[in-house]
Amino acid sequence: MAAAKILSPSSTPTDYFKVISPTLQIPSPDTGITVPVGILACQRDPLLRKIETTVIACHVSQPSSAPAGKKTKKAVVAPGLPNEPILEIVLHDTVIFPEGGGQPTDTGLITTSDGKAWLVLQAKRHGGHAVHYVKITEGDIDSALSVFAPGSSVTASLGPDDYDRRYDHMSMHTSQHLLSAVLETRLNLPTLSWSLTSPPSPCYVEVPRGMTVEEIRFIQSEANKLVFEGRRVYTEVEELDRDKTVVPTILESGRSAGKGLPSDYTGGVNRVVVIDGVDRNPCCGSHLPTIHNLQLFILPHTETMSRSSTTSARLYFLSGPRLIGYLTTTHEFLTSTASILSCGAPSVPERVSQVVDERKKAEKRVTDLESELAKHIGSGLYHEALAGSVNDGYIFRKHLRRTDDSGNALGLLSAISVAFSEQIAKSQTPYLLVLTSTPSAQTTNSTTVVMVIGSDDKEVRSVGDSLKSQLGVKGGGKGLKWSGKYIGVWKEKKEGGLVDDLLKDVQ
Ligand SMILES: [Zn+2]
Repeated sequence: MAAAKILSPSSTPTDYFKVISPTLQIPSPDTGITVPVGILACQRDPLLRKIETTVIACHVSQPSSAPAGKKTKKAVVAPGLPNEPILEIVLHDTVIFPEGGGQPTDTGLITTSDGKAWLVLQAKRHGGHAVHYVKITEGDIDSALSVFAPGSSVTASLGPDDYDRRYDHMSMHTSQHLLSAVLETRLNLPTLSWSLTSPPSPCYVEVPRGMTVEEIRFIQSEANKLVFEGRRVYTEVEELDRDKTVVPTILESGRSAGKGLPSDYTGGVNRVVVIDGVDRNPCCGSHLPTIHNLQLFILPHTETMSRSSTTSARLYFLSGPRLIGYLTTTHEFLTSTASILSCGAPSVPERVSQVVDERKKAEKRVTDLESELAKHIGSGLYHEALAGSVNDGYIFRKHLRRTDDSGNALGLLSAISVAFSEQIAKSQTPYLLVLTSTPSAQTTNSTTVVMVIGSDDKEVRSVGDSLKSQLGVKGGGKGLKWSGKYIGVWKEKKEGGLVDDLLKDVQ
């Protein structure tokens, strides 16, 4: 009897899965033994989407709030487990890949004999077995346990979204093997680690040093030569001989670091993924049967990582559907920018640099004009003060109102106050000035800048205190200067009028 009945044939070539040991057998469902991780259907036939199989074990569990597994910041995110009971199901065989080899868990479906499709949220390897974490709908635990009774027939499958997710993982994982092999053979650069990030981010390999743009172009070109040749990918499996497999045989540089079998693996199978004539690597991932459509794009820079005494670098790459997604997005960015600039896409860099240049010049001109304007306004205020000072006991009190949409309204008010103070100092005329600057269109989040200057520090402090207590202006000051911000709509009649009253009332 066949190990499992294939419901819809996949296009994986029959020589993808090679058993190189005459004694290795795939367990039959009759034995009630699971097919171990290493030779699961998803590892024998990566393009297979559906398999009819039997339930070996099922029990209810309560997931802990933090599901097991490494929490890598950028690593791909598996759907979280709900904070309620779920089913842990072991099947005889499965097309749903349990996480491993840097490749994240698949999501999928298990359809029971009553036609109901159950969501597989995650699959994980426990020892040598794949365990499916299945969502319980409507809290119906009893009926779940009945349809998943050991020996029951079920169908494990990847739905369209599950398959797209897996296809992306396979593309990135197989490309990583290719990239690491080319880095090692062409530049003697071992791969220290790699990360299958969530789409649309590029994935990365970590290498011991940064690379030049020329080296990156060279590696990309070498890898794509092999891609265009359409090198085959296949797997070789045999019984596990730990004495043989534990010692890394490749390079002193350590490419094989972390590539050994996990210490808790009890599946009893040694699996090597081969890219024909390019690479042989022990790995449990589900890999595409060919690299022929995996054009590799390497982002032309490396990111340097510094960890205590060692420095390494990350090399980011894309391939397969993720590369097409990346090209689509970047092309959209480019065309929308070109449209804003009213030019063709190739002229975008030149136009942007022109715009940046023009903006710098415009900013400088604004700064120059503001400084000229500040002197002019300061001088106007001084002459107004001088005109009044002919009267005995005169104090120049004024509220200067400005409407200004500048991002630095305080800067201009300060420049005005400096220009005025410098001139008035010569005349000894006492003064108390409030300067306000309000944006032209206001909302409840608008900021009105308020500044108080005077010849008497007690008066300045008194006006500042009143602005705080009566208008809710947030600010402070020292000596002859006080400044603050009012958040909200500043009405000239109400808030402005209150400032006028404060100036009058100061003793
Ligand atoms: Zn791998």
